[in-house]
Amino acid sequence: MSLDNISSNYQKTINDLPQNVQLVAVSKTHPIEHIQHVYNLGQRIFGENKVQELAEKYPQLPKDIQWHLIGHLQTNKVKYIAEFIDTIQSVDSEKLLEEIDRQAAKFQRKIKVLLQVKIAEEETKFGLEIHEAKEIFQDDLNGKYPNIEITGLMGMATFTDDKNQVTKEFTLLKQIFDKLSLLKKLDTLSMGMSGDYKEAIACGANSVRIGSAIFGSRQYGV
Ligand SMILES: *Cc1c(COP(=O)(O)O)cnc(C)c1O
Repeated sequence: MSLDNISSNYQKTINDLPQNVQLVAVSKTHPIEHIQHVYNLGQRIFGENKVQELAEKYPQLPKDIQWHLIGHLQTNKVKYIAEFIDTIQSVDSEKLLEEIDRQAAKFQRKIKVLLQVKIAEEETKFGLEIHEAKEIFQDDLNGKYPNIEITGLMGMATFTDDKNQVTKEFTLLKQIFDKLSLLKKLDTLSMGMSGDYKEAIACGANSVRIGSAIFGSRQYGV
């Protein structure tokens, strides 16, 4: 993908998003020069899904980037990103949240997190059941996690062409978001990727995670 193509993809994506919708540019597998290019176009929020890759990229890029971790995070790796991560979108267990809280305290900062809720009908490995997300949220309200801030929810829809299915799943997460918001104000409902962000926004997403529509297809892995 040429830098010119990335520029026009980025512009097109930005033009597609309503004012109130935050863009997380998902840069996993893409080289530093491409990320720097999108930064130069004005983007400040980037998402990565692997700790090692993020830890390698972080020192090579401007310090005012807000990094979001969007992939499954192993408890023993929190320490490698705790000093600089802006938001961990993929909190999928109580154990992980406890460790994030501990590491945030160590670095004397507050780490923002989203609870990742399982909404897809397809069998997915990661994400909290709805009742687990509610319990964790309540524990946080009761003061269990002083060094983290739960700013919202994240979810992924089933990977399918069936737009009705996708809309049903996003609508479910929006309903949970609205319910929890009655207990404490939440800022971020993160749902929607390159293939389904329009549906997600129609269902109430105010943050989208877009990779391939900006940077092109990934060369390896996901
Ligand atoms: C890779 C990834 C994305 C972006 O996917 P694209 O289809 O490239 O936009 C969004 N969210 C998560 C959790 C991801 O792992």
